Amino acid sequence: MLIIMNSDATKDQIDHVTSRVREIGFRDHIMPGAGKVAIGVTGDGDYDQSKLHLEILPGVFKIMRVTKSWKLASRQVKSEPTVVDVQGVKFGGEHIAMIAGPCAVESEDFTITIAKMMRDRGAQMLRGGAYKPRTSPYSFQGLGERGLEILAKASEITGLPFVTEVVCEGDVDIVSKYAHMLQIGARNMQNFRLLARVASAGKPVLLKRGMSATLDETLLSAEHLLSKGCYDVVLCERGIRTFGNHARNTLDISIIPALRKVSHLPIIVDPSHSAGKRSMVIPHALAGIGAGGDGIIVETHHRPEEAMCDGPQALLPNEFSHMMRLCRGVSAALGRRIGTEYIMNDDLEQESDPLKIAMHM
Ligand code: PEP
Ligand code: MN
Repeated sequence: MLIIMNSDATKDQIDHVTSRVREIGFRDHIMPGAGKVAIGVTGDGDYDQSKLHLEILPGVFKIMRVTKSWKLASRQVKSEPTVVDVQGVKFGGEHIAMIAGPCAVESEDFTITIAKMMRDRGAQMLRGGAYKPRTSPYSFQGLGERGLEILAKASEITGLPFVTEVVCEGDVDIVSKYAHMLQIGARNMQNFRLLARVASAGKPVLLKRGMSATLDETLLSAEHLLSKGCYDVVLCERGIRTFGNHARNTLDISIIPALRKVSHLPIIVDPSHSAGKRSMVIPHALAGIGAGGDGIIVETHHRPEEAMCDGPQALLPNEFSHMMRLCRGVSAALGRRIGTEYIMNDDLEQESDPLKIAMHM
């Protein structure tokens, strides 16, 4: 349910309501908003009974039943878009954020080189896997804690905060010691114990949509985080499994406006894992921003032929610059903008025709 407080409700009245909510066995969630204070109430008790207990409290304006199963993620509970802030990098509302970096952290030299190149080309955040969920047990599994140390060093040198994946409950403490944002990968979207453990880490979360997850399932996974007090959740569309085999996955552009309509959570697009091939990454990114995405997370590498993971889909630095330029154009057309005052340094690049880069297949 949702408790709407009077517009002149005092802090004492709000505190009284939240403590009553807890006394009767529920959990309270203060939903920040421009107007009246709203308190989301979650738990599995009796709605009518609890409503009777709560509606008589001083300062309460009204109580509403939230019909959606993903209550805290819904626009019923919070109508304005949530802006998630990761060390000053904002996702949602008018803000579009760009995350770039290698699929996996491979070495200190490579990671720092890529981080600097991305920073100079307009990325606001760094990505890179230290713990990799690999389909084959024989593939590179990541450098583990050493990878986290490298990411922390690259972050310190460039000033870019970083997001990295946490693949199991046992790794949550170590990953949160270093990372600014924790990624839940597509394969783990419905690992509910992992979601609960990650929620308790107190870090913003990037939640990737599972390869066969519906909109409801995606939002219910987000709800697992929100219901445990982890409100800084960014969703990510990274392509789903369909009969199409022309790309690694099918980028489901249609879920972006559908999610924006029913949920206040920001949603970004991963064009790398949808495309699977470098030549198709930029069009996927542009489509993502065009459909209303709140950012892009893209794999980049200066020497993709030497990458230990996902080299064929990594954008080269100059291609990343072109992607940025085109995404800025699409964002501007939509009245949104990427980051703050980034000015493109054209001297960095030689390629002249960005459309050619975007369209060559
Ligand atoms: C990744 O971002 O490195 C990754 C493994 O993505 P996904 O979980 O979407 O496959
Ligand atoms: Mn990858």
